Amino acid sequence: MIVVAIDGPSGVGKSTVGRALAASLGVPYLDTGAMYRAVGLLARRKGLPLPLTGADEVGELAERTEILVTGSGGDVKTFLDGEDVSAEIREPEISRYASAVAAIPRVRRRLAARQREMALAGGGVLEGRDIGTRVVPEATAKFFLTARPEVRARRRYEELVRKGTPQELASVRAEMEARDAADSSRADSPLSCDDTYVVVDTSDLDAERVVERLLQAVLGSRTG
Ligand code: C5P
Repeated sequence: MIVVAIDGPSGVGKSTVGRALAASLGVPYLDTGAMYRAVGLLARRKGLPLPLTGADEVGELAERTEILVTGSGGDVKTFLDGEDVSAEIREPEISRYASAVAAIPRVRRRLAARQREMALAGGGVLEGRDIGTRVVPEATAKFFLTARPEVRARRRYEELVRKGTPQELASVRAEMEARDAADSSRADSPLSCDDTYVVVDTSDLDAERVVERLLQAVLGSRTG
């Protein structure tokens, strides 16, 4: 069974690369960020303000709501108790809510357990912040993707333009940096990497090159 962990901050290309790698390996792809976004959406729908209060309420909501992330390739969908929320969870405000709910230990416990179950059921490429440190520490291969901040901000900016919801580049960058700082400094499972990871700087590589590199490393670690 193959389980690949891809961790790293936002805008490094984890989703594009993760999907393509999963397709090449013939295993499921799991976007774990979509699950945190779904819980973030629950918190916003409850009318909870940011900075977030009501950790217990959010933890309880996360425990009693069915969160499903399905599909691979270009067709990944997220459901909250059967409702398709795939588009709504991509709103910039939900990125902030996702990062806020992701700091709640009860939420992390619940989601990490589900993610681990899915990974061990049939293998997969899992993308997130704590996959190789917490969710599946025994993964076949672990990658930590990085890129220079200006490159990451530009990628996120272009993605928003493509989706028809443009924002100023400077505010995209400021928001991205604030979210990464929060994700890296929280007490429970912060974004981090250790020497069990292969670090890949994607700043000057296109997605195909990154996939090629990862694929070689995964296949190498299986036979080697
Ligand atoms: O990857 P994405 O930007 O969709 O993730 C949204 C947020 O969810 C991140 O900023 C982070 O706070 C949280 N997250 C996490 N652990 C994961 C995946 C995402 O804390 N494994």
